[in-house]
Amino acid sequence: MRKLTEKKLLVATHNAGKLEEIRAMMAPFGIEVTSAGEMGLAEPDETETTFIGNARIKARAAMEATGLVVLADDSGITIDGLDGAPGVYTADWAETPNGRDFDMAMARAWNELEAANVPEPRTAQFRATLILMWPDGHEEIFEGIAPGRLVWPTRGPHGHGYDPMFVPDGQEGGQSLTFAEMDPAEKNRISHRADAFRKLEAAFA
Ligand code: IMP
Repeated sequence: MRKLTEKKLLVATHNAGKLEEIRAMMAPFGIEVTSAGEMGLAEPDETETTFIGNARIKARAAMEATGLVVLADDSGITIDGLDGAPGVYTADWAETPNGRDFDMAMARAWNELEAANVPEPRTAQFRATLILMWPDGHEEIFEGIAPGRLVWPTRGPHGHGYDPMFVPDGQEGGQSLTFAEMDPAEKNRISHRADAFRKLEAAFA
């Protein structure tokens, strides 16, 4: 694996929350982080059908615009009983003319499982893909996963997206909290993104 020796990294995101999370993670390694949003770069269309494909589109666009080493990510949820849907269309399922509505997206997921008579447990995985891309086009890929099952009705006030319907596997004492019922620090310890970041740390020199 190629190691990251550069001390400056461009994160290919326009999402301020994601940027803060990544900046905090890089700080102990002395890596200075800037973002595509802060540099006013255009957001490319995510036209691929895989998480890796879409992360690569974001990484390449930012790398070619700046000549910097770039970190890009793509994430979503795959539901086994729906043949992996919504997958790369996870955010699209929430789109409305007035912004994103994740209650609507979660209801769609549950209604499709009901319509297809999918037996319980209705297993699903949150997935996060990170790509580190250098100016010469070399890339390293890190994939994180959080396996679990979907429940209805939704539960819990925390988190975002599909968190209120997702019960991650392997909870202490056989508990079945959703990601949205968990303390956010606990979710961040076991999430798909944490898994991918732990793998990424192996690339730091
Ligand atoms: P993207 O990686 O910014 O394209 O986001 C994809 C979508 O996946 C987000 O809009 C969320 O709906 C969903 N998603 C990704 N990670 C999580 C998570 O930790 N909890 C809930 N939803 C998530």
